[in-house]
Amino acid sequence: MNFEIIMHITNLIVSTYVCKILTEKFIVDKTLQPRIVSKILKKPNRISIYNDINISKIELKYKKYVTNFIKEIIKNFDSADLTNFYNNVNKLDIKYNLKLKDNIGGRYLSLKDKIEIKDEYDKYIYHELFHMASSYFINNIDYSGFEQIKRPFVIGKGINEGYTELLTNRYFPKEFSSSNSYYYAMKTMQEIENLVDKNKMQSLYLNANLLGLIDELKKYNSEEQIMKFITNMDFLINYLDYLRKKNTFIYKNAILKTLKEINIFLFDCYAEKLLTKSTFSYSETMNKIYDYIEKIPNAIEFTNYGFPEEYEYMTEDDIRNYILNIKKHVYQYYLNKNSKQENHKER
Ligand SMILES: [Zn+2]
Repeated sequence: MNFEIIMHITNLIVSTYVCKILTEKFIVDKTLQPRIVSKILKKPNRISIYNDINISKIELKYKKYVTNFIKEIIKNFDSADLTNFYNNVNKLDIKYNLKLKDNIGGRYLSLKDKIEIKDEYDKYIYHELFHMASSYFINNIDYSGFEQIKRPFVIGKGINEGYTELLTNRYFPKEFSSSNSYYYAMKTMQEIENLVDKNKMQSLYLNANLLGLIDELKKYNSEEQIMKFITNMDFLINYLDYLRKKNTFIYKNAILKTLKEINIFLFDCYAEKLLTKSTFSYSETMNKIYDYIEKIPNAIEFTNYGFPEEYEYMTEDDIRNYILNIKKHVYQYYLNKNSKQENHKER
């Protein structure tokens, strides 16, 4: 082979490689742009079509799961929140599909009211059934739990998958839960549920009321920060597992930045709830905030050239700075509160 040919091939390889990096970097940048709240649609009003349940259409090998799911759903949830469930379960079809992509064990297709599953992935069936119980397709828009899809526009996938996984873990045996990025999303959504209230949150999910969830969170943070949180969760659900295996710092930095922003969002919401909904003293409030910061994980494992390595997304310095700022904020809150009470006494 002469030198020119070698150069030509190397150039081709290099340019394809650069091109690949650029497109991937583009995805990273693009998906990190916060979405705007005006794009989110009001929850659709759905009329109940069925009062009964008939699952005769479902293949025998899946019937035991569906029967079990129906039993748990009826036992644990308010019937007023089960309109999507009743309407979908009666038309539901479950089919084996070997051709699903490698990383997909199952999926729910709202338009067709159909679950597709790979045989070895039976364990994902309850997760998919929760998507079925919380979905409504109308006017080309898929309202599914906390996610809204009007292709190519998708919002809320991260928080929706996390909460779907949380419910699957809560009501069904642990062997039916998955790991990886869904685990991170699930843990994060547990914190969100602790803020909002379990029953309220489950009701918002089953009614596909994303806007309702945003309104609840507005009690504890700004609309801008809430939208940033939702966008960050969307980014992680799509890319966390994939980018964790990449040996490039562009991706690691994007992930670490996103994880840190989510932690700060959770800390801020928690602090705001303590200030507005409780009667703790200044020091009691600060102690609770310290405990909360300690409780939320601040590091993640990356695979670097085949070896796992832990990265802190909130370093000691980050935590110290955060505490300094929140201390000022809490102190100011108590100062204002006391001066209001003083004014009140003088009158
Ligand atoms: Zn899912």
